[in-house]
Amino acid sequence: MIVVMKQGATRAQVANVTARIEQLGCRAHLSEGEERTIIGVIGNGRPIDREPIERMDGVERTVPILRPFKLASRDFHPQDTLVSINGLAIGGRQLIVMAGPCAVESREQLLEAARAVKSGGGHVLRGGAFKPRTSPYSFQGLGEEGLRLLAAVREETGLPIVTEVMEPQMVPLVTTYADILQIGARNMQNYALLHAVGEAQRPVLLKRGMMSTIEELLMAAEYILSHGNDRVILCERGIRTFEQYTRNTLDISAVPLLKQLSHLPVVVDPSHGTGKWELVEPVSRAAVAAGADGLLIEVHPHPEQALSDGAQSLKPTRFADMMRGLQPIAEAVGRTL
Ligand code: PEP
Ligand code: MN
Repeated sequence: MIVVMKQGATRAQVANVTARIEQLGCRAHLSEGEERTIIGVIGNGRPIDREPIERMDGVERTVPILRPFKLASRDFHPQDTLVSINGLAIGGRQLIVMAGPCAVESREQLLEAARAVKSGGGHVLRGGAFKPRTSPYSFQGLGEEGLRLLAAVREETGLPIVTEVMEPQMVPLVTTYADILQIGARNMQNYALLHAVGEAQRPVLLKRGMMSTIEELLMAAEYILSHGNDRVILCERGIRTFEQYTRNTLDISAVPLLKQLSHLPVVVDPSHGTGKWELVEPVSRAAVAAGADGLLIEVHPHPEQALSDGAQSLKPTRFADMMRGLQPIAEAVGRTL
């Protein structure tokens, strides 16, 4: 359940309610809004008697949260969460575009891609150093050398970086380099990893598993939030269906649905969502029109030579064209790009 405090409730009243919740063997998560404080009560599965809490000073009402996700739910946190990195706010009026190669391949490749991202109007550089590949014989990424290259290119371009972490033991290493930790689709339900990034001091980009429901995605976010990290960005990247012409089926309805159910920012990855560069621009437009807070786009200076995902990567000129084409759509839905 959540406890909605009265407008103007004092700190002491909030502290008393928190203490009572903890006496009951539950955890209290505070959400301090502009107007009032909301306290999320995370129980141990046993029903809680709401009445004694409702009678406490400063309490306006209690509301049961019937959905299995609590901290991720909009009931708990009615206003949109803004995830800030280096002066950027993800989840606000401005759309945030994270773009770059699927994998970091070399300094030249990354720098060229980063310059294209920056000059095209992108805000964050993406690039995998540890790659989860279907085949063990495919390029697996440059590992820590890839992280060093990302950091060097951040230095040179000023673009913050998002990169994937695949194992809990690697979280401290990746955290020393990355501005945003990416959890890939294949790891969305790796609970040890979700726990580890929940304790990390970095925002997390959580990608929807390719066979996961919206509720499973929100429960994965709940793991991260419940371990103390409230900076979670959700990412719709397509799910597997019977369709064969696209790599995945991008679930556009996930965008408004996630925004209704949750306060967390939602970004869309049309590159993995479609698998085809020709579809990236039209699907990006749809994502912005549907209310996405940002996009994750694969951009490669020479897609035909890419070591992974060349078929879905945009060339620099196409990325710049796409960004220009998104402007009127962004304006039409009251956003800036
Ligand atoms: C990626 O974005 O680098 C990636 C591997 O995507 P996904 O986890 O969505 O397949
Ligand atoms: Mn990729």
